[in-house]
Amino acid sequence: ETLYTTGDDLNAEIGNKLREIENGLLSWTDEDSQISKLNAAAGEMTEASDELAGYLAQIEQLADDSGGAFDPTLGKVIRLWDIGGENQRIPGEDEIQEVLKDSGYQKISLDGNTIHMDEGCSLDLGAAGKGIGCDLILENLKNQKDVTAALMNLGGSSVMTYGSKPDGSSWNVAVTDPRAENDDDYLGVVALNGTEFLSTSGDYEKYFIEDGVRYHHIMDPSTGYPAKSGVTGVTVVCDTGLEADALSTACFVLGVEKGAQLLKTYGADGLFVDEDHHVYLTEGMKERFSLLADSYSVEDILE
Ligand code: AMP
Ligand code: MG
Repeated sequence: ETLYTTGDDLNAEIGNKLREIENGLLSWTDEDSQISKLNAAAGEMTEASDELAGYLAQIEQLADDSGGAFDPTLGKVIRLWDIGGENQRIPGEDEIQEVLKDSGYQKISLDGNTIHMDEGCSLDLGAAGKGIGCDLILENLKNQKDVTAALMNLGGSSVMTYGSKPDGSSWNVAVTDPRAENDDDYLGVVALNGTEFLSTSGDYEKYFIEDGVRYHHIMDPSTGYPAKSGVTGVTVVCDTGLEADALSTACFVLGVEKGAQLLKTYGADGLFVDEDHHVYLTEGMKERFSLLADSYSVEDILE
Protein backbone atom coordinates (compact mmCIF):
# COMPACT_ATOMS: atom_id res chain seq x y z
CA GLU A 1 0.00 0.00 0.00
CA THR A 2 1.59 3.21 -1.16
CA LEU A 3 -0.32 6.29 -0.14
CA TYR A 4 0.82 9.71 -1.23
CA THR A 5 -0.92 11.76 1.37
CA THR A 6 -0.70 14.58 3.82
CA GLY A 7 -3.81 13.49 5.75
CA ASP A 8 -2.69 11.80 8.98
CA ASP A 9 -5.89 9.91 9.62
CA LEU A 10 -6.38 8.66 6.06
CA ASN A 11 -5.26 5.14 6.89
CA ALA A 12 -7.53 4.94 9.92
CA GLU A 13 -10.49 6.15 7.91
CA ILE A 14 -9.88 3.60 5.17
CA GLY A 15 -9.31 0.87 7.74
CA ASN A 16 -12.68 1.64 9.31
CA LYS A 17 -14.37 1.66 5.93
CA LEU A 18 -12.94 -1.78 5.12
CA ARG A 19 -13.99 -3.24 8.47
CA GLU A 20 -17.47 -1.88 7.86
CA ILE A 21 -17.63 -3.67 4.48
CA GLU A 22 -16.18 -6.89 5.82
CA ASN A 23 -18.23 -7.16 9.01
CA GLY A 24 -21.35 -5.23 8.12
CA LEU A 25 -21.93 -6.23 4.53
CA LEU A 26 -20.13 -9.26 3.19
CA SER A 27 -19.16 -11.62 5.99
CA TRP A 28 -21.09 -14.86 6.23
CA THR A 29 -19.61 -15.75 9.62
CA ASP A 30 -20.69 -12.50 11.25
CA GLU A 31 -24.39 -12.90 12.10
CA ASP A 32 -24.99 -9.18 11.86
CA SER A 33 -23.75 -8.77 8.32
CA GLN A 34 -26.26 -8.09 5.58
CA ILE A 35 -25.21 -11.26 3.73
CA SER A 36 -25.78 -13.41 6.84
CA LYS A 37 -29.22 -11.89 7.21
CA LEU A 38 -30.05 -12.61 3.58
CA ASN A 39 -28.86 -16.20 3.97
CA ALA A 40 -30.94 -16.60 7.13
CA ALA A 41 -33.99 -15.31 5.25
CA ALA A 42 -33.66 -17.77 2.33
CA GLY A 43 -37.16 -18.86 1.32
CA GLU A 44 -38.69 -15.51 2.31
CA MET A 45 -38.88 -12.02 0.84
CA THR A 46 -36.41 -9.54 2.36
CA GLU A 47 -35.62 -5.88 1.94
CA ALA A 48 -31.96 -5.08 1.27
CA SER A 49 -30.19 -1.74 1.61
CA ASP A 50 -29.80 0.31 -1.59
CA GLU A 51 -26.11 -0.51 -1.43
CA LEU A 52 -26.51 -4.28 -1.24
CA ALA A 53 -29.37 -4.39 -3.75
CA GLY A 54 -27.20 -2.45 -6.21
CA TYR A 55 -24.27 -4.84 -5.81
CA LEU A 56 -26.53 -7.88 -6.14
CA ALA A 57 -28.01 -6.53 -9.37
CA GLN A 58 -24.52 -6.14 -10.86
CA ILE A 59 -23.50 -9.55 -9.55
CA GLU A 60 -26.54 -11.27 -11.05
CA GLN A 61 -25.77 -9.62 -14.38
CA LEU A 62 -22.18 -10.89 -14.24
CA ALA A 63 -23.41 -14.38 -13.36
CA ASP A 64 -25.74 -14.31 -16.35
CA ASP A 65 -23.17 -12.83 -18.76
CA SER A 66 -20.62 -15.49 -17.76
CA GLY A 67 -23.11 -18.29 -18.37
CA GLY A 68 -23.01 -19.08 -14.65
CA ALA A 69 -19.21 -19.47 -14.45
CA PHE A 70 -19.28 -16.75 -11.80
CA ASP A 71 -21.97 -17.78 -9.34
CA PRO A 72 -22.65 -15.97 -6.04
CA THR A 73 -24.73 -18.84 -4.63
CA LEU A 74 -21.95 -21.38 -4.06
CA GLY A 75 -21.97 -20.87 -0.29
CA LYS A 76 -22.65 -24.50 0.55
CA VAL A 77 -20.20 -25.87 -2.02
CA ILE A 78 -17.46 -23.58 -0.74
CA ARG A 79 -18.04 -24.53 2.89
CA LEU A 80 -18.16 -28.24 2.04
CA TRP A 81 -14.65 -28.16 0.55
CA ASP A 82 -13.39 -25.48 2.99
CA ILE A 83 -10.26 -24.98 0.88
CA GLY A 84 -7.68 -23.10 2.90
CA GLY A 85 -9.73 -23.65 6.07
CA GLU A 86 -9.41 -26.01 9.00
CA ASN A 87 -11.73 -28.65 7.56
CA GLN A 88 -10.47 -28.78 3.99
CA ARG A 89 -10.98 -32.18 2.39
CA ILE A 90 -12.19 -33.90 -0.77
CA PRO A 91 -15.91 -34.44 -0.21
CA GLY A 92 -17.81 -37.47 -1.46
CA GLU A 93 -19.57 -37.28 -4.81
CA ASP A 94 -22.96 -37.62 -3.08
CA GLU A 95 -22.20 -34.70 -0.74
CA ILE A 96 -21.20 -32.54 -3.70
CA GLN A 97 -24.40 -33.37 -5.61
CA GLU A 98 -26.43 -32.60 -2.50
CA VAL A 99 -25.04 -29.07 -2.04
CA LEU A 100 -25.09 -28.34 -5.77
CA LYS A 101 -28.89 -28.66 -5.68
CA ASP A 102 -28.99 -25.59 -3.45
CA SER A 103 -26.84 -23.41 -5.67
CA GLY A 104 -27.52 -21.58 -8.94
CA TYR A 105 -27.71 -17.84 -9.48
CA GLN A 106 -31.25 -18.17 -10.87
CA LYS A 107 -32.36 -18.98 -7.31
CA ILE A 108 -32.09 -15.25 -6.54
CA SER A 109 -34.71 -12.80 -7.74
CA LEU A 110 -34.49 -9.05 -7.37
CA ASP A 111 -37.25 -6.50 -7.57
CA GLY A 112 -35.85 -3.13 -6.57
CA ASN A 113 -34.69 -3.63 -3.00
CA THR A 114 -36.87 -6.68 -2.48
CA ILE A 115 -34.89 -9.88 -2.66
CA HIS A 116 -36.04 -13.46 -2.76
CA MET A 117 -33.66 -16.37 -2.54
CA ASP A 118 -34.81 -20.00 -2.68
CA GLU A 119 -34.80 -21.95 0.55
CA GLY A 120 -31.47 -23.69 1.18
CA CYS A 121 -29.55 -21.34 -1.09
CA SER A 122 -26.50 -19.63 0.43
CA LEU A 123 -24.65 -16.57 -0.84
CA ASP A 124 -20.86 -16.26 -0.87
CA LEU A 125 -19.49 -13.03 -2.30
CA GLY A 126 -15.84 -13.97 -1.78
CA ALA A 127 -15.16 -13.59 -5.50
CA ALA A 128 -16.29 -9.95 -5.62
CA GLY A 129 -15.82 -8.65 -2.08
CA LYS A 130 -12.32 -7.26 -2.40
CA GLY A 131 -13.32 -5.53 -5.61
CA ILE A 132 -16.31 -3.93 -3.87
CA GLY A 133 -13.86 -2.85 -1.16
CA CYS A 134 -11.71 -1.16 -3.81
CA ASP A 135 -14.77 0.67 -5.25
CA LEU A 136 -15.71 1.98 -1.82
CA ILE A 137 -12.17 3.13 -1.10
CA LEU A 138 -12.12 5.04 -4.37
CA GLU A 139 -15.33 6.84 -3.41
CA ASN A 140 -13.83 7.61 -0.04
CA LEU A 141 -10.59 8.96 -1.55
CA LYS A 142 -12.48 11.22 -3.94
CA ASN A 143 -13.92 12.95 -0.89
CA GLN A 144 -10.53 13.49 0.70
CA LYS A 145 -9.37 16.77 -0.75
CA ASP A 146 -5.78 16.41 0.38
CA VAL A 147 -5.31 13.12 -1.49
CA THR A 148 -4.44 13.49 -5.15
CA ALA A 149 -3.19 10.00 -5.92
CA ALA A 150 -3.15 6.58 -4.33
CA LEU A 151 -2.66 2.88 -4.96
CA MET A 152 -4.42 0.36 -2.73
CA ASN A 153 -3.94 -3.39 -2.69
CA LEU A 154 -6.53 -5.51 -0.91
CA GLY A 155 -5.43 -9.00 0.04
CA GLY A 156 -2.76 -9.08 -2.64
CA SER A 157 -5.30 -9.78 -5.40
CA SER A 158 -7.37 -6.61 -5.89
CA VAL A 159 -5.71 -3.32 -6.70
CA MET A 160 -7.10 0.18 -7.18
CA THR A 161 -5.30 3.19 -8.60
CA TYR A 162 -6.42 6.76 -8.19
CA GLY A 163 -5.12 9.89 -9.89
CA SER A 164 -1.59 10.33 -11.19
CA LYS A 165 1.63 9.54 -9.45
CA PRO A 166 3.55 12.66 -8.39
CA ASP A 167 6.07 12.13 -11.21
CA GLY A 168 3.33 11.56 -13.82
CA SER A 169 4.35 7.98 -14.64
CA SER A 170 1.82 5.12 -14.72
CA TRP A 171 1.28 2.78 -11.79
CA ASN A 172 3.03 -0.55 -12.21
CA VAL A 173 1.50 -3.55 -10.50
CA ALA A 174 3.44 -6.81 -10.28
CA VAL A 175 1.61 -10.02 -11.19
CA THR A 176 2.55 -13.21 -9.33
CA ASP A 177 3.99 -16.17 -11.23
CA PRO A 178 1.42 -18.87 -10.37
CA ARG A 179 4.16 -21.52 -10.17
CA ALA A 180 6.86 -19.37 -8.56
CA GLU A 181 9.21 -21.01 -6.07
CA ASN A 182 9.67 -17.71 -4.24
CA ASP A 183 7.00 -15.17 -3.45
CA ASP A 184 8.97 -12.38 -5.06
CA ASP A 185 9.31 -14.13 -8.42
CA TYR A 186 6.97 -12.12 -10.58
CA LEU A 187 5.44 -13.09 -13.87
CA GLY A 188 5.48 -9.50 -15.04
CA VAL A 189 4.17 -6.02 -14.55
CA VAL A 190 0.86 -4.41 -15.59
CA ALA A 191 0.66 -0.64 -16.07
CA LEU A 192 -2.45 1.13 -14.74
CA ASN A 193 -3.50 4.73 -15.28
CA GLY A 194 -5.79 7.07 -13.42
CA THR A 195 -8.82 5.27 -12.07
CA GLU A 196 -8.40 1.63 -12.98
CA PHE A 197 -8.86 -1.59 -11.11
CA LEU A 198 -6.89 -4.83 -11.36
CA SER A 199 -7.85 -8.21 -9.99
CA THR A 200 -6.14 -11.59 -10.04
CA SER A 201 -7.60 -15.06 -9.48
CA GLY A 202 -5.28 -18.05 -9.22
CA ASP A 203 -5.12 -21.68 -8.15
CA TYR A 204 -2.07 -20.91 -5.99
CA GLU A 205 -3.88 -18.63 -3.54
CA LYS A 206 -5.73 -21.26 -1.50
CA TYR A 207 -5.18 -24.95 -2.28
CA PHE A 208 -3.97 -28.32 -1.14
CA ILE A 209 -2.38 -31.14 -3.10
CA GLU A 210 -3.48 -34.74 -2.62
CA ASP A 211 -2.19 -37.68 -4.70
CA GLY A 212 -0.58 -35.18 -7.03
CA VAL A 213 -3.85 -33.33 -7.72
CA ARG A 214 -4.21 -29.64 -6.85
CA TYR A 215 -7.52 -28.80 -5.16
CA HIS A 216 -7.97 -25.03 -5.17
CA HIS A 217 -10.61 -22.49 -4.11
CA ILE A 218 -12.17 -21.49 -7.44
CA MET A 219 -15.10 -23.77 -8.07
CA ASP A 220 -16.74 -24.75 -11.34
CA PRO A 221 -20.44 -24.21 -10.58
CA SER A 222 -21.39 -26.82 -13.17
CA THR A 223 -19.50 -29.63 -11.40
CA GLY A 224 -19.02 -28.58 -7.77
CA TYR A 225 -15.28 -29.33 -8.12
CA PRO A 226 -12.33 -26.92 -8.41
CA ALA A 227 -12.37 -25.47 -11.93
CA LYS A 228 -10.16 -27.20 -14.52
CA SER A 229 -10.00 -24.88 -17.51
CA GLY A 230 -6.25 -25.26 -17.94
CA VAL A 231 -5.37 -21.85 -16.53
CA THR A 232 -3.35 -21.27 -13.36
CA GLY A 233 -4.02 -17.55 -13.04
CA VAL A 234 -6.04 -14.73 -14.62
CA THR A 235 -5.54 -10.98 -14.22
CA VAL A 236 -8.19 -8.49 -15.34
CA VAL A 237 -8.08 -4.69 -15.64
CA CYS A 238 -11.25 -2.61 -15.93
CA ASP A 239 -13.19 0.41 -14.70
CA THR A 240 -14.75 -0.90 -11.50
CA GLY A 241 -13.40 -3.06 -8.71
CA LEU A 242 -16.48 -5.26 -8.55
CA GLU A 243 -16.25 -6.07 -12.26
CA ALA A 244 -12.49 -6.70 -12.20
CA ASP A 245 -12.87 -9.09 -9.26
CA ALA A 246 -15.91 -10.99 -10.56
CA LEU A 247 -14.51 -11.16 -14.11
CA SER A 248 -11.16 -12.59 -12.98
CA THR A 249 -12.98 -15.39 -11.13
CA ALA A 250 -15.32 -16.01 -14.08
CA CYS A 251 -12.39 -16.09 -16.53
CA PHE A 252 -10.56 -18.60 -14.38
CA VAL A 253 -13.55 -20.94 -14.69
CA LEU A 254 -14.10 -20.23 -18.40
CA GLY A 255 -10.50 -20.54 -19.58
CA VAL A 256 -8.70 -18.52 -22.25
CA GLU A 257 -11.03 -18.36 -25.28
CA LYS A 258 -14.40 -18.07 -23.55
CA GLY A 259 -12.90 -15.80 -20.90
CA ALA A 260 -11.51 -13.44 -23.55
CA GLN A 261 -14.95 -13.24 -25.17
CA LEU A 262 -16.53 -12.27 -21.87
CA LEU A 263 -13.88 -9.58 -21.27
CA LYS A 264 -14.64 -8.09 -24.67
CA THR A 265 -18.29 -7.53 -23.74
CA TYR A 266 -17.14 -5.64 -20.63
CA GLY A 267 -14.42 -3.67 -22.40
CA ALA A 268 -11.92 -5.19 -19.99
CA ASP A 269 -8.29 -6.24 -20.56
CA GLY A 270 -6.98 -9.58 -19.37
CA LEU A 271 -4.08 -11.96 -19.17
CA PHE A 272 -4.32 -15.72 -18.75
CA VAL A 273 -1.54 -18.04 -17.63
CA ASP A 274 -1.62 -21.78 -18.30
CA GLU A 275 0.12 -24.91 -16.96
CA ASP A 276 2.50 -24.93 -19.93
CA HIS A 277 3.90 -21.49 -19.01
CA HIS A 278 2.07 -19.66 -21.76
CA VAL A 279 0.74 -16.16 -21.17
CA TYR A 280 -2.25 -15.11 -23.29
CA LEU A 281 -2.93 -11.38 -23.61
CA THR A 282 -6.02 -9.58 -24.89
CA GLU A 283 -5.31 -6.71 -27.32
CA GLY A 284 -5.59 -4.03 -24.64
CA MET A 285 -3.39 -5.99 -22.25
CA LYS A 286 -0.58 -6.15 -24.82
CA GLU A 287 0.01 -2.44 -24.31
CA ARG A 288 0.07 -2.73 -20.53
CA PHE A 289 2.01 -5.89 -19.81
CA SER A 290 5.74 -6.49 -19.56
CA LEU A 291 6.90 -10.07 -19.08
CA LEU A 292 9.59 -10.60 -16.44
CA ALA A 293 9.71 -14.38 -15.91
CA ASP A 294 11.86 -15.93 -18.63
CA SER A 295 10.36 -19.42 -18.27
CA TYR A 296 7.13 -18.04 -19.83
CA SER A 297 6.24 -17.12 -23.41
CA VAL A 298 3.53 -14.78 -24.68
CA GLU A 299 0.96 -16.33 -27.04
CA ASP A 300 -1.96 -15.06 -29.10
CA ILE A 301 -5.54 -15.81 -28.15
CA LEU A 302 -7.31 -17.83 -30.85
CA GLU A 303 -10.72 -16.48 -31.75
P1 AMP B 1 -11.27 -14.85 -6.28
O1 AMP B 1 -10.03 -15.07 -5.51
O2 AMP B 1 -11.70 -13.45 -6.43
O3 AMP B 1 -11.26 -15.57 -7.60
O4 AMP B 1 -12.47 -15.49 -5.44
C1 AMP B 1 -12.45 -16.81 -4.99
C2 AMP B 1 -13.48 -16.97 -3.90
O5 AMP B 1 -14.78 -16.80 -4.44
C3 AMP B 1 -13.47 -18.35 -3.28
O6 AMP B 1 -12.64 -18.41 -2.15
C4 AMP B 1 -14.94 -18.56 -2.94
O7 AMP B 1 -15.26 -17.89 -1.74
C5 AMP B 1 -15.66 -17.85 -4.07
N1 AMP B 1 -15.87 -18.66 -5.29
C6 AMP B 1 -15.27 -19.81 -5.67
N2 AMP B 1 -15.67 -20.20 -6.89
C7 AMP B 1 -16.54 -19.26 -7.32
C8 AMP B 1 -17.31 -19.09 -8.53
N3 AMP B 1 -17.24 -19.94 -9.55
N4 AMP B 1 -18.12 -18.00 -8.60
C9 AMP B 1 -18.21 -17.11 -7.58
N5 AMP B 1 -17.53 -17.23 -6.43
C10 AMP B 1 -16.69 -18.28 -6.30
MG1 MG C 1 -12.60 -12.46 -7.97
